[in-house]
Amino acid sequence: MNRAEEDYIKSIYELTVERKQPLIKSNELTDRLGFTDQSVNEMIKKLVQKHLVNFIPYKGISLTKKGKDVAIRMVRAHRIWEVFLTEKLGFSWENVHDAAEQLEHATTNDVLLKLYQYLGEPKFCQHGNPIPDFSGHALEVATTSLIETKPGDRFILMRVLDHKELLTYLNEQSIVLYQEFEVIEKDVFNGILVIKIQETIKNLTLKTASMLFGKIMKT
Ligand SMILES: [Zn+2]
Repeated sequence: MNRAEEDYIKSIYELTVERKQPLIKSNELTDRLGFTDQSVNEMIKKLVQKHLVNFIPYKGISLTKKGKDVAIRMVRAHRIWEVFLTEKLGFSWENVHDAAEQLEHATTNDVLLKLYQYLGEPKFCQHGNPIPDFSGHALEVATTSLIETKPGDRFILMRVLDHKELLTYLNEQSIVLYQEFEVIEKDVFNGILVIKIQETIKNLTLKTASMLFGKIMKT
C-alpha cells in the first residue's frame, strides 16, 4: 500500500469517528482532503479493489475490517509520535503534524509498541485525539463543538482541529486543552462568540468556535 492510499484510509476512519456515522459521503472526503471529485472517485475504486473500502452507490463509503485495521495502525502511530515530539523533544502543538505524518509511515509495530510503553501508554495526543491501544480500543472522541453552546453554558475544551493557523492563534490567546470556558454571548449575525476564561473575556469568531470540541458541563 502506498502513502496516498494510507492517507485516504486514515481520513475515512477519522471522518467516521468524528461524525459518528457508519457511512461517509465522497464529497465529505473531497472537502477533508482538498482533492477533486475525480481523483477521490478513482482512489475509492482502487481501494475497493484492494478490499479496504466498501462502496454503496448513492449511500457512501465505509472501511472493511482490513481497511479499519490499517487506519487504526496509522492513527495510532501518528498520535504516539505527536506525544513523543511534544513531550520528549519539546515541539509545540502546531509544529508536530508534518513530522508525525512522515514518521507514521515509517514505523514498524515493534518500534511503535516500545515507544507507546516508553511514553506510559498515553490515551490522547496533544490535540485531544484518542490513541487506540494495541487491541484497537480508544476512548471516545469529543464531538460537541463550542459553536453548539449557548450563553450561560460552561464548556471544557477537550479537542482542537490540528490546523497550524488555528493552533498558533490559540497560543496567542493562551487557550489550552482542558480549560473551562463560560459562554457569555453568542452574536450569530456578526459571527462572534464571547467567552470568559477564568476572569478574562475573549471574543472568538464562530469559525474558530466550530474547530474547538469538548463537553458542556451540566449545571
Ligand atoms: Zn494530534
